[in-house]
Amino acid sequence: MFDSSGGAGTLTRGAKGTDMGTISERTAHLGTENAFVVLAEVEKLTAQGRDVVSFCIGQPDFVTPDNIREAAIKAIREGRTGYTPSAGIPKLREAAAHEIGRLRGLDVSPAEVVVAAGAKPFIGYSILSVTDHGQGHEVIYPNPGFPIYDSQIEAMGAVPVPLYLQEAHDFAFDPGELRDKINENTRLVILNSPHNPTGGTLRGDVLNEIASVLAEHEHVWIYADEIYSRLVYDGEFESIASYDGLRERTIIVDGASKTWAMTGWRIGYAANKALAPYFTSWVTNTESCAPHPSQYAALEALSGPQDEPDRMKKVFHRRRDLIVRLLGDVPGFECRMPGGAFYAWPNVTEACRMVGADDSEHFRLRLLNEAGVAVLADIHFGHRRPGGGQHIRFSYATSDDAIEKGVERITGFIKKNTR
Ligand code: PMP
Repeated sequence: MFDSSGGAGTLTRGAKGTDMGTISERTAHLGTENAFVVLAEVEKLTAQGRDVVSFCIGQPDFVTPDNIREAAIKAIREGRTGYTPSAGIPKLREAAAHEIGRLRGLDVSPAEVVVAAGAKPFIGYSILSVTDHGQGHEVIYPNPGFPIYDSQIEAMGAVPVPLYLQEAHDFAFDPGELRDKINENTRLVILNSPHNPTGGTLRGDVLNEIASVLAEHEHVWIYADEIYSRLVYDGEFESIASYDGLRERTIIVDGASKTWAMTGWRIGYAANKALAPYFTSWVTNTESCAPHPSQYAALEALSGPQDEPDRMKKVFHRRRDLIVRLLGDVPGFECRMPGGAFYAWPNVTEACRMVGADDSEHFRLRLLNEAGVAVLADIHFGHRRPGGGQHIRFSYATSDDAIEKGVERITGFIKKNTR
C-alpha cells in the first residue's frame, strides 16, 4: 500500500489561488484517477481498525515473477544504472517489436517502437503529437473510460468528444456513433480493448465495422490502448492495427504492467513508424528514458519463459467466472460477462433503488462505510450518460476469498437495507 496523495495533501480540483502564486487553469482543472482517491479513503478506514475488502485498484495482486526480478538485480549488479537512449535499449525495442507483432499478426520493426515509463505517458505524448492547443482539434474517446484520456485531452487544450459504450452490446460502442462523431477537426480516436472499466472487448463484426468507419477517414490517427491484450478470456485478442490500411495510422500501445504484474517497474511501449521519432523527442523532453534496470526486467519478461503470465491469466479467468456468478445473485445487480482485463461492471440501478441510494456514487460510499467493501463508481470513469443506468467497478485482481467475502457483505447490506 502507498500514500496516494504522495504526501502532498489533497488537491481541490478547480482551486486557483495559493499563497505562493497562481496555479494555471490547465493544472487547476487537471483530472485524476479516482482509484487513488478511493484508495486513500480505504487506508483511512483501515488505519482506524476497520476491515475493508477492496476491489478498487487495477493492478495484478501478484508479485513480479522471480526470473524477471532476478534479471533486474543482475542488471543493477552489472552497473546498468545510468541513462539509456530515450527510445529504450535496443534489445528491449527488439523484443517489444517481436511481441507486438506476434500478438497482432504484424511485422513490426524495432525502429517503430519507443519505450517509456509505463503505457500511460503515451496518452499525453500522442495527444501532444497530433493536436495543437486551443485549435479545436477533437479527440474521440470511450465513455466510460480510463479517466486519464479525458484529463489529458483537456489539459493539452484539445476538445474531448466522448463515445458512449453500450451495455446491451457488451460495452462495445455503436460504429454508427463513431461515424457521426468524426469530422474534419477530429485528430485522434482512442480505442481501448480489453477495456477499463467494463472488461469489454472489441472484436469480430463490431471491430470490422469500426475498421471500415476509420478507413473512410484518412486524416484520423488511432490510439489503440491494448495494455490488457494478453488478458482475453473468450477467443483470441483482436487489434484494430491488424486491419489493412489502418496499421500506419494506428499507435499500438502495450506494456509490462498487467501481463507480467509489473505496475511499479514502469515500462510501456508504443509502436508507430511515423510517430516514433516524435515520441522519442517527448521522452527526451520529459522522462529522459524509462528506468534502466526496469528495461532489463522487461526484456526478461518479454523474452523469458511465459509460464507465470500464463498462470496468472488462468487465475484471473477463474476469478472472472467466480465474481460474475456471485454478482449475478446479488439482489438488484445485473452483471454482463466481461471478455477481458480484470474488471466487472455490474448495473446496480435496481440495487440503488432498493436501498434508497441516490446514485452509484452514494451507493459506493454506503458500501464502503456500512458494508466495508471498496469499489469505484461510474462517475470515476466519465460523466454518466442519461438513461444509461448506474454502475460500479470491481477489480477482481484479488483473492477468491476476498471476492466471496466482499460479495457476501454486499448481499447482506442490500438485504438489511431494502426498503
Ligand atoms: N491504459 C489503461 C486502460 C489502463 O487501465 C492503465 C492502467 N490502469 C494504463 C493504460 C496505464 O498502464 P501503465 O501502468 O503501463 O502506465
